[in-house]
Amino acid sequence: MDGTMDPGTNAAPGRAAAADAKWTPYRHPMPKESPPELIVPDAIPSDERVWVPVDDNVWFRPLCLSVTRGYWVNLLRVRRAGVLSRHRHPMPVHGFVLKGEWRYLEHDWVAREGGYVYEAPGETHTLVVDPHVEEMITLFQVNGAMIYVDPDGNCTGYDDVFTRLDKCRRHYAACGLGEGYIDQFLR
Ligand code: FE
Repeated sequence: MDGTMDPGTNAAPGRAAAADAKWTPYRHPMPKESPPELIVPDAIPSDERVWVPVDDNVWFRPLCLSVTRGYWVNLLRVRRAGVLSRHRHPMPVHGFVLKGEWRYLEHDWVAREGGYVYEAPGETHTLVVDPHVEEMITLFQVNGAMIYVDPDGNCTGYDDVFTRLDKCRRHYAACGLGEGYIDQFLR
């Protein structure tokens, strides 16, 4: 039977019932400890103020800040000739390139639009966008922290989900969206 047919017209009674059951929603409440789902329709925002500036030509757009699990999901946007400071990851990072391309000074590969990147714990790297790339946007899920280091690995600072949250609050207060704007992205 063609999967697109109405299951009621041609199927045996048992199969029709099974097909109906498949389309029946779960009918009980979610666990009371489970936080609400988070839907961001304009993940790549039309309102420029949603982008939080981090450095020259570098911005991030928060999507989910997990203050209970210690990770964050954001879009990183870098415009031509931008650098994301050298940093070490104590925990893994997952990335998906939505637009443009970028590379690490420490590796010889290039992450291009449509590509997936896994960054292993222990990685230290410097993300750069070269002058020929007008704009790159990448979704990153970052666990734990980013530890900023000098070229010898000496710690110069860090970011975790709480410093990210502070940066968002300050930026959204200053740009007029209001410091409470970030609260919808907390879980
Ligand atoms: Fe990184």
